Amino acid sequence: CPLGPALLFVKTSQGKEEGRRFYACSACRDRKDCNFFQWEDEKVSETRLAAREEYNRNHQPSFTHRQNVERYKNFLLLPLSKRRFCQECQQLLLPAEWEKHSDHQFLCDISVAQLKSPSQLLYPLENKKTNAQYLFADRSCQFLLDLILDLGFRRVLSVGTPRLHEMIQSKASQEDDFRIRSLLLDIDFRYSQFYTEDEFCHYNMFNHYFFGGEAARETCRKFLYQDNGERVIMVTDPPFGGLVEALASSFKKLMAIWKETEKEGHNNQEMPMFWIFPYFFESRILEFFPSFSMMDYQVDYDNHALYKHGKTGRRQSPVRIFTNLTPSMIVLPAEEGYRFCAICQRYVSSGNQHCEMCNSCTSKDGRRWKHCVLCKKCVKPSWFHCNNCNCCALQNHTCEKSDAGCFVCGKAGHKRSTCPNLSHT
Ligand code: SAH
Ligand code: ZN
Ligand code: ZN
Ligand code: ZN
Ligand code: ZN
Repeated sequence: CPLGPALLFVKTSQGKEEGRRFYACSACRDRKDCNFFQWEDEKVSETRLAAREEYNRNHQPSFTHRQNVERYKNFLLLPLSKRRFCQECQQLLLPAEWEKHSDHQFLCDISVAQLKSPSQLLYPLENKKTNAQYLFADRSCQFLLDLILDLGFRRVLSVGTPRLHEMIQSKASQEDDFRIRSLLLDIDFRYSQFYTEDEFCHYNMFNHYFFGGEAARETCRKFLYQDNGERVIMVTDPPFGGLVEALASSFKKLMAIWKETEKEGHNNQEMPMFWIFPYFFESRILEFFPSFSMMDYQVDYDNHALYKHGKTGRRQSPVRIFTNLTPSMIVLPAEEGYRFCAICQRYVSSGNQHCEMCNSCTSKDGRRWKHCVLCKKCVKPSWFHCNNCNCCALQNHTCEKSDAGCFVCGKAGHKRSTCPNLSHT
C-alpha cells in the first residue's frame, strides 16, 4: 500500500483455533485511511497489481524530499514580506505559487525562528488515527533533552519525536558548545520541508520502511555508525494505538543496524533506547524487550487534554519512559516530587510507596497503591478484593463467573474491550 509493505494479520473468532490470515496496512488503524486488503492465499492478477502500483504512485507526496530541500533554500532567500505558509496545504509557498493558493488561509512573514520550530507551524495531525500526533509539553521535552545530555549522549535517533528533534536542531544551530545531533525518522512528510536528507528520513515505524529507499536507509546507518556507534540513543514516542509487536520488530531492526558496528565492548550490548508509552503496556513491552524497565516519570503533552499538566492541579499522565539503561541512572526531578528508592535503586514518584511484601515500589499510576494479601500483590487504591472473582477489582464491578480471562489475550484483569492486545481484528 502507499505506506510500504502491509502486515500479516489473523482474523480469529471465538472458539476457532485457526483464523484466516490477511494483509492490511501497517500504519492505518482506520480502513477509511487505507483500505488495503488481501487474503494471504489470494491470487492477485497482473492487472490488479499494476493498478495497485499506479495507485501507490499517485498517493505519494507531490514534491520529493530533494525538491523540498531546494524549495526551502529558495524560501530562505526571500525577504520576510514574501515568506508565506499555506495553512490549508501545510506548505511553504514560493511567490509563483501564491496564485494557486489564493483562496487558502495562509500565514505571512515567516521568520527564521518559525522555520526552526516546524512543530509549532504545522498543525498536529491528531485527528487522524494514523498519525496521532501528540507533542511534548516544553517541560517534558526539556527534561528529556537534559537527561540525554547528563547521560553523555551525543546523537539522538528521534523516531516519531519531531519536537525533541526540533529542540536539538535549534540549540545546535544557536549554541556553539552544544554538541548533540539528531536524526528524525517520521511518517509525517511535511517535515521534509524543513530538514535536509541528513536530518530527516520519511519512515514508517510499523514496518521499518524507508520511503526514500536505500539512500535513506544509508543515512540512518551512517548516523548510527558515527564514532563507532558510541554515545547514541534512540528515543521514540509511537502512536498509542499502535501494535506493540510491529513496533518492537522495527525497533529491533534499528537496534540491529547499530549492532553491526561491532565495536569491541558493546558486542553484547543493546543500543540505548527510550520508548515512551502508556504504563498499561508495560507487560507487552517487557515481553519483547525483557531488558527494559519502566520509569515513573510522567510525560506531558501540549495538545492532549488528558495528558497535560493542568493549571488547576495536576492531571496524571499515564505515559512513561521505558528504557534499557540502568534505572538508577535516570534521575527524575526532585522539584516535581520524585525521589530515589534505595532498595529499588530507581527514582519513583512521590506517591509511590515501597511495599515491604512485594519488595518494590509498586504504584504504576503515581497514586499510592495498597497491598492485598490474598492477591499477594499491590493493587490500585480504588480496588477491593472480590471473593467471587478471587482477585481485586473496583467495588461496583460485575463479577465474572467461570473464566475471568480476557477473550482476546486470555489474561485476567481486563475484558475484551480494554485489552491492550486488541488490534485490527
Ligand atoms: N511527543 C512527540 C510526538 C509523538 S506523536 C514529540 O513531541 O516530538 C507520534 C509521532 O509519530 C508523530 O510525529 C507522528 O507523525 C509519528 N508517527 C505516527 N505513525 C507513524 C509511523 N507509522 N511511522 C513513523 N512515525 C509515525
Ligand atoms: Zn496504507
Ligand atoms: Zn522501592
Ligand atoms: Zn505489595
Ligand atoms: Zn486482592
